[in-house]
This record gives sequence, C-alpha cells and structure tokens, in this order.
Amino acid sequence: MKKVHIIGAGFAGAEAAHQISKRGVEVVLHEMRPEKLTPAHKTGNFAEPVCSNSFRAAGLANAVGVLKEEMRRLDSVIMSAADETKIPAGGALAVDREKFGATVTEKVKSSPNVKFVPGEVESLEEFLNSEDILIIASGPLTEGKLADEIKKLTGGDEFYFYDAAAPIVTCESVNFDKAFFSSRYGKGAEIGLHKLPDDGGRIFKFSARTCQRR
Ligand SMILES: Cc1cc2nc3c(=O)[nH]c(=O)nc-3n(C[C@H](O)[C@H](O)[C@H](O)COP(=O)(O)OP(=O)(O)OC[C@H]3O[C@@H](n4cnc5c(N)ncnc54)[C@H](O)[C@@H]3O)c2cc1C
Repeated sequence: MKKVHIIGAGFAGAEAAHQISKRGVEVVLHEMRPEKLTPAHKTGNFAEPVCSNSFRAAGLANAVGVLKEEMRRLDSVIMSAADETKIPAGGALAVDREKFGATVTEKVKSSPNVKFVPGEVESLEEFLNSEDILIIASGPLTEGKLADEIKKLTGGDEFYFYDAAAPIVTCESVNFDKAFFSSRYGKGAEIGLHKLPDDGGRIFKFSARTCQRR
C-alpha cells in the first residue's frame, strides 16, 4: 500500500496524520521544529497555536461551534486535545497552549501507523518521484527552499500570508489597582481584564486569556 508523507505537523498536518493513520495507512510525518523554528513558533510541539489560544465559540448556535462539533464526531485529534486541555473562557473554547500542543504531539506520535521524521524538508524531488502520496501542510510561514519548490510546482511567482501576533498579557504585568476581571459577554468566566476608567473617562479593554482570576 502507498505511504502518505506529510510535511508539517501543525494543525493540518497533525490532524491529517491522525485521520490517515487510524484508517490503517502508513504515515511519514516530517517536522522541522524544534531544530528549526518559524518566526512565530516557539516549541517543538505539534499544532502549536502561534497566537490566540481561543478556538472561538463553544456553543452550537453559530457556525464555528457547529464546525467544532462536526470535528469531534469525526474523532478529530485537535478537538480531543482541545477538550482535554481547555481553560475557562466564557462562551468560547480556549486551551492551555502548552498542554494542548503537548497533548496533540503525544496522541499523534503514539498513533500506530505514524513514523515521525524530524528535520526540515528542502526538496520535494524524492516524494514526487515516488509512488507515495504527499501532503504539504507546512503552513502560512513556509519559506526558503520548500517555498521555492512549491512555487515551481504551482507556477506562481510569489505566495503571501498576512497576519499579526496579538500580545499575550501575563498576570505579573498587570496592576490590579487599575484593572479588574469581568465577563465580556456575561457568560460567567473571567476572561476579560478591563482597565478602570482613566482620567479622560475612557475604558480600555484587552484580553488576558492566560491570566487566571486571583
Ligand atoms: C503571526 C500569526 C498569527 C496567527 N494568529 C492566528 C490566530 O490567532 N488564530 C488562528 O486561528 N490562526 C492564526 N494564525 C494562522 C495559523 O497559522 C493557522 O491557524 C494554523 O497554524 C495553520 O495551521 P497549519 O497546519 O496550516 O500551519 P502551521 O500550524 O503553521 O503548521 C505548519 C508546520 O509545518 C512545519 N514546517 C514548515 N516548513 C517545513 C519544512 N520545510 N520542513 C518540515 N516542516 C516544516 C512548521 O514547523 C509547522 O509545524 C496565525 C498565523 C500567524 C503567522
């Protein structure tokens, strides 16, 4: 039977490895971290959330909640890890980012048909010249030789991805004489950290999802 090579053990690659492996197909999962990090990733964990730790709404009253429930019913490794490592976040599903990534890593690495190959993939030649199936799941920060290889395949001059990383606010950095916890949408969990009105009467709001109520 053909093997499936997957380049990248991010969200897409980890889920693909899990789903393919459980169907009895041999998976070879290539991941360059932690040897080589991207500008946004900081660990060697699979499916590392690079910015927000929120997977948005948990309820079934909107599309993002329904999509997550559909993933659960399809035995998604991303969803099972998220459910096991979730933290209070009102109406949203948010995870402890370290525990989440570690849980996905452990689950995928222990899948019976997954062989993990550490290291950066720089050429697609050996995959394209074989009978095996290739999934490129190297994510929006793909660069260097792999990016050049993809450009050769797709024929495009460039590919682009624009995003920004939101700052993570830690408890230690907050002056609680000037800020207080409250629930943004009145759903009970203390995820919002609101600044008291300043002299000008304005109220600043910012998210502090890693911060637990004191
Ligand atoms: C700065 C920034 C902020 C973001 N903020 C958010 C957010 O708040 N919420 C959100 O939902 N999405 C956010 N995103 C988008 C986020 O990247 C995707 O949601 C998610 O990570 C995409 O999953 P993926 O599997 O496609 O890519 P990734 O999760 O990036 O996984 C790709 C994997 O491939 C590996 N890899 C790359 N090149 C190679 C190679 N040559 N050889 C071997 N391995 C390789 C990488 O190390 C990585 O592990 C953000 C992205 C960026 C860049």
